[in-house]
Amino acid sequence: MKKRYMIFAVLIILLFTATATGCPADEEPMTQSSFYVMFIDVGQADASLIMCDGRYMLIDGGNTEDSSRIYSVLKDKGVEVLDYVVSTHAHEDHIGGLPAAFNCCQVQTVFSPVTEYDTSTFAKLKNAARAQGKSLVMPKLGQKYSLGSAFFTVFAPLRKDYEEVNDSSIVLKLEYGDTSFLFTGDAERLSEYDMVEAGYDLSADVLKVGHHGSYTSTSYLFLREVMPTYGVISLGKGNEYGHPHDEILSRLNNADVQVLRTDELGDIICHSDGATVRFEGIEPDVRGTPPAGRFVGNKKTGILHHNSCGGLPKENNRLYFCTITDAARAGYIKYCTNCMP
Ligand SMILES: [Zn+2]
Ligand SMILES: [Zn+2]
Repeated sequence: MKKRYMIFAVLIILLFTATATGCPADEEPMTQSSFYVMFIDVGQADASLIMCDGRYMLIDGGNTEDSSRIYSVLKDKGVEVLDYVVSTHAHEDHIGGLPAAFNCCQVQTVFSPVTEYDTSTFAKLKNAARAQGKSLVMPKLGQKYSLGSAFFTVFAPLRKDYEEVNDSSIVLKLEYGDTSFLFTGDAERLSEYDMVEAGYDLSADVLKVGHHGSYTSTSYLFLREVMPTYGVISLGKGNEYGHPHDEILSRLNNADVQVLRTDELGDIICHSDGATVRFEGIEPDVRGTPPAGRFVGNKKTGILHHNSCGGLPKENNRLYFCTITDAARAGYIKYCTNCMP
């Protein structure tokens, strides 16, 4: 009987927590599994290693000069088989170091948005794959691919005729339990708008910020759908492009996204227990978990604010919402031009 009372008490506490924040309470964390994402510091380039239950996926591999770095990371981690190697798009800063992965690992599947691209770097990738009897394939949009007990879904590229190679980037959402990561390669505004229009659930805890923090990506419309707690930017110190661009940093800041940069932190490692994500050596920014919903509707004007806005209405004129969608359902479809431009 005692045990039953205890369970009852826990239920009451959970219910109270949910009511107090106005947002759904976290579900029980997953045990038995292990999961991490390593954003490898490859300077002004991109490379992420994902592990779930002993299965591995490598998304991009940095520049050709990063080959030895990619090789040693995979060796250090004891990776022998890569279930997936993803070349998000054919630019050198994403595929240059990928052949090194084929030198130390057996690769099961190689995803690429194109099978032909006229550079020697791309030819090297194709040859490395061919040496293992693999060809480059475009993943199926919307299909779920499993990686241990995690899975990912491919959202883009939605068109074949983008003029900008960056827009051809494979974009995928990786989910482990209730936690999720959105990898966007160098996808720019056009592809972002297409994804929003396609009606995907783009929401994610961690956004791998598009195109190294360039103003060409992370459009407000897109960011509003993703609403990440964390944004990881992969870039090199003092790079020639001026990445990350100030407008993107302030946009992320306005949306309460905690920004983590490889040019400042080196390798960035994120763990997930299926309920929450935790970055090695990083304290969560408390602003990321506001007490009573992230969005505030003004009952008088019908305008929606982010709860970080300097011009929030008086408490008795406020309506709190956890998501933009919740607010829209309640009729709040006009946004404050200061906090949600
Ligand atoms: Zn690119
Ligand atoms: Zn790039």
